[in-house]
Amino acid sequence: MGCIEQKKTPADNRNKKGDSYFSPSGEKVTVPDFVPDFNAFEAMAPRLPEKTPAERRNGRHVKANDIPPEGVYLPNNNYLAPHMKSPEYVQLSNAAAISLGIMGGRMYRCECTRCLNLLLTYPEGCRANCAYCGLARHREAERDYADRNFIRVDWPAVPMADIVDIVARDPESSPFHRMCISMITHPRSEADTFTVLEAWTDRIDPEAIPVSILSNPTTMTRDDVQRTRDLGADIFTVALDAATPEVFDRTRGKGVQSPHKWSKYWEILNDAKDIFGPEKFGAHIIVGMGETEHEVLNLVQELVDMGGHSHMFCFFPEGGSLMDHLPATPRDQWRRVQLARYLIDYRGVRVDQMRFDDMGRVSDYGIAGSELDDVIDEGIAFRTSGCPGKVREDISACDRPYGDSPPSDIASYPFQPKKKDIKRIRKQLDIPVSVE
Ligand code: SF4
Repeated sequence: MGCIEQKKTPADNRNKKGDSYFSPSGEKVTVPDFVPDFNAFEAMAPRLPEKTPAERRNGRHVKANDIPPEGVYLPNNNYLAPHMKSPEYVQLSNAAAISLGIMGGRMYRCECTRCLNLLLTYPEGCRANCAYCGLARHREAERDYADRNFIRVDWPAVPMADIVDIVARDPESSPFHRMCISMITHPRSEADTFTVLEAWTDRIDPEAIPVSILSNPTTMTRDDVQRTRDLGADIFTVALDAATPEVFDRTRGKGVQSPHKWSKYWEILNDAKDIFGPEKFGAHIIVGMGETEHEVLNLVQELVDMGGHSHMFCFFPEGGSLMDHLPATPRDQWRRVQLARYLIDYRGVRVDQMRFDDMGRVSDYGIAGSELDDVIDEGIAFRTSGCPGKVREDISACDRPYGDSPPSDIASYPFQPKKKDIKRIRKQLDIPVSVE
């Protein structure tokens, strides 16, 4: 079946032991012989960013043109439109563009996405350099911002007014259960988030389609968090992404010449807790960038104890990123963490009831086998996690497909897993049906 989200990146083929590939600097790299069943810290070091030629820095060659943008811009249209920027323009995922009806295409085993993910956009792009991210600054050397892949897919740029026009015609029957504004690191990010949010809430009742903010704390203040609440945002999340300060620093901070600081992310997360209140704030976490299962699940518990939620994704080596040579999170590691996270987030199990082996891997989920069977068979634990939609609290509206895996080896299920999927998940977990 054709699938617009199924575009294969070189990284899909790069995670087998013994494989070789060439880094952007031409250096031959071989995936180590020993590939454990989890991504250990030592094995997950990003490449260092290279120097960008002066003529490509800061979107300079795009800004040297004066071509006006014309409606929808599909990645690789390859015209240089410096005025195609937020707040007038936003980018949206392929899945959202298909669901909105402005792009053709089908998605493997999915009808549509329930979350309209919007991304602020500028010709000079995000000014941070996160090692796992397709939007990172170092990519200006090889790709214009509007053409960069992000979480495995392309992101068309569309006038915000067109999006609002389409959804405002009949919000109640829209496929979307939620809209989300993703901020990036840019001096205009806060002001433009407010403008985009207002453009939405002016014409679309946030009760009909609630709005989430996926924030970039580096340039934010507490007042900015408050302003998003005052303008009608429902949930505020922080893209913490890394599960420990060491992984954070190596993938998002000094390690890759990026401006982010763990302490600033926590400052804004605490502001969100105060301003948005219980169940209305949370953090994004990527699993498999070098933290242990014990570490990431302690973080999940900490967020629950604060009154929030974790939204969890599986590390995937994004093509063109500084980690595109590294292995995707092994499915057994990912399934253990996905299951344990669901138990902590939605079933009241605590991390201290669980047991871990000497490498920090989950060895006991802290509940009876029959109860665990029921949770596994229900399948919700393995769906894409994120802010809730209109179905139930533990079913995410944000089911954008295949952001963390190819459809041939699904990490987060963007649909309700069927019997054959559960069979596969059980195999990955190495948990046969309990006979209790
Ligand atoms: S701040 Fe966000 S968009 Fe920018 S490089 Fe980091 S992860 Fe990517």
